[in-house]
Amino acid sequence: MGGRRKFIKHSLLSTLAGIPLAGNAGSLQTFRKEEKTVKNFTPQVLSTWNHGMPANDKAWEVLNSGGTIVDAVEQGVMVTENDLSNLSVGLQGLPDREGIVTLDASIMKGDGSCGSVAFVRQVKHPITLARKVMEKTPHVMLAGEGARLFAISEGMPIEQEELSPKAREAYMRWKENAKYQPVINIENHDTIGMVGMDENGAMAGSCTTSGLAYKMHGRVGDSPIIGAGLFVDEEVGAATATGLGEEVIRICGAFLIVELMRQGRTPQEACEEAVKRAVSKSKDIDNTQIGFLALNKEGEFGAFAIRPGFNFARHHGQGKSLTDARSWYK
Ligand code: ASP
Repeated sequence: MGGRRKFIKHSLLSTLAGIPLAGNAGSLQTFRKEEKTVKNFTPQVLSTWNHGMPANDKAWEVLNSGGTIVDAVEQGVMVTENDLSNLSVGLQGLPDREGIVTLDASIMKGDGSCGSVAFVRQVKHPITLARKVMEKTPHVMLAGEGARLFAISEGMPIEQEELSPKAREAYMRWKENAKYQPVINIENHDTIGMVGMDENGAMAGSCTTSGLAYKMHGRVGDSPIIGAGLFVDEEVGAATATGLGEEVIRICGAFLIVELMRQGRTPQEACEEAVKRAVSKSKDIDNTQIGFLALNKEGEFGAFAIRPGFNFARHHGQGKSLTDARSWYK
């Protein structure tokens, strides 16, 4: 990378000196992009919730052993998809009201490449399937049986459709009083969303969930919707969301945050503005929790939620941390 950096630095100095450069002389926009390119980037990964800590550990290990930022955000969240104690991500998660676990996931690179799967059954690693959609198909999103068949065609294992013991117990308890009503509340859903940047400024993000517990069969949340649960544009930054997906989709949450950052807001300001928007549009604010997490190209990050309780994990060159996000309601 040193060679490329030197070249870019030389290009920038040439531009500053007024020396025209073949192919990129001229526009202010070009100059600004180059100005960004010569910076020293701050490699880091950030994830939603406590389960972000072990997920970030893995992502950081992948980055430090020469993996790309896309490898890192994929393999990082696979840790959570594999975590049998986790009831909100992966096949061990809480089912829909029919007792069936359906998963949503998305992955996005800073250059705009993206892939996602929605309402998929029996696939242990929907994030890997989303990456395969991104890399091996002309599409962005596959849903339901089509996504499952694509997994089979890619040689991915198909799991037995059986609730984990913890999920079964919770589902049985829910059924006693639920009257078959989907529950909209501030609990029972905790996606992992991860955003990251490598030392060259390449960015990527991932998002994976079993979605809202006891949802209607077929319900899809924000997590596999590019621009809602996840958005990355490495000219600017990346954002991801957790919480009640319906409210995040309504405001195109992650896209909104990246666009606010493009207009000059810091990640913190952008997350706060997006929460403010969600609060103003909410159909049921008393039962709504949303948390946003964002990172910009400068390495600044921010997080904000509707109500207390949302936290995020950050791994970077100097260590790691788990931080409680600030919130609209105190
Ligand atoms: N956003 C997810 C969904 O609505 C759930 C969550 O993050 O809590 O499916």
